[in-house]
Amino acid sequence: MRENRLPFQLEACWKEKDMISGRVSDAMVMIMRTSGCCWANKGGCTMCGYRQASVSTVSEDDFNKQIDEALSKYKGEPFVKIYTSGSFLDENEIPAPIRERILKEFSRCERILFESRPEFVNEEVLSALPKTVTVALGLESSDPDVLSVSIKKGFTPEDSRRAGMLIKSASMAVRTYLMLKPPFFTESAAIEDTVRSAVFADEFSDEISINPLNVQRGTYAERLWRAGELRPPWIWSLAEVLKILSGTVNARLMSSPSGGGTMRGVHNCGNCDRKMLDGIERFSFSQDVKDLDVRCDCIKNWQTYLESEKILGTAADLERGFSDDLALGGAKDGGIRH
Ligand code: SF4
Ligand SMILES: [Zn+2]
Repeated sequence: MRENRLPFQLEACWKEKDMISGRVSDAMVMIMRTSGCCWANKGGCTMCGYRQASVSTVSEDDFNKQIDEALSKYKGEPFVKIYTSGSFLDENEIPAPIRERILKEFSRCERILFESRPEFVNEEVLSALPKTVTVALGLESSDPDVLSVSIKKGFTPEDSRRAGMLIKSASMAVRTYLMLKPPFFTESAAIEDTVRSAVFADEFSDEISINPLNVQRGTYAERLWRAGELRPPWIWSLAEVLKILSGTVNARLMSSPSGGGTMRGVHNCGNCDRKMLDGIERFSFSQDVKDLDVRCDCIKNWQTYLESEKILGTAADLERGFSDDLALGGAKDGGIRH
């Protein structure tokens, strides 16, 4: 935990594009400083470094100053996303009066999105929310063993499904996050798991956002990565997942990888990374698989990588040690957010 952070300041605030009812719209993103995710405070998920964005105590006065800061930057964007590095619906993290003020301040927005663990989603909480709300649920995987062993999520896929169905029956929207290639996964097993998980999530999701593993600081995933036991997924794998799912699920598919093109994030050979990530961004809006058509010779390396992992029966980073460019010492660094 970094105590040099000031509890009355936002962690970050920026503008970007997203979508409302099928059209591209301006969005403001605000990341609030809170005491952090209740689960992170008990050890947390294996890939989550969000504790770094938390401070030990944040008073209501601090929260109000953070909201004032956000309002000073707000230019009437119709879509506002409020991230807390935890659960917006957890009253121990965001006190009820603060939640009410935020919803009131942005009551003219067409769409408001925040994240929550499923245990905080219940009928009573939902009844107090406007219908413009989208709740983002971090399902990650539909496989209970993946959630408990690989991610240590602290809830089951059924918990997310229950929360998702409840949100849908309250006429609000759900954005579901899936983790592509959690620890201990080979590339091909990761593709299969994410495809299966998206089919599971489709029933209660308006949008499915694929988050390729991004190695965040101070996490168990980082320890594995430093030991050469883990390679973040190839961008080819992410594109493959999107191609397989396109036309299969009803939900809008999207991906906005943190640390993309770096050694800590989803990456290819280095030459095609930007082009592919741009294509994935375009696809997230258009849903047109043509946007995923990028050519680079490293697709052969990816195919060989998939085969080699199967033959060797390992999820370790097979590139490590084979190339100076890819060796850890020369790595470009990724950010902490996923
Ligand atoms: S990934 Fe989400 S649920 Fe897991 S520790 Fe981080 S903030 Fe909490
Ligand atoms: Zn390439």
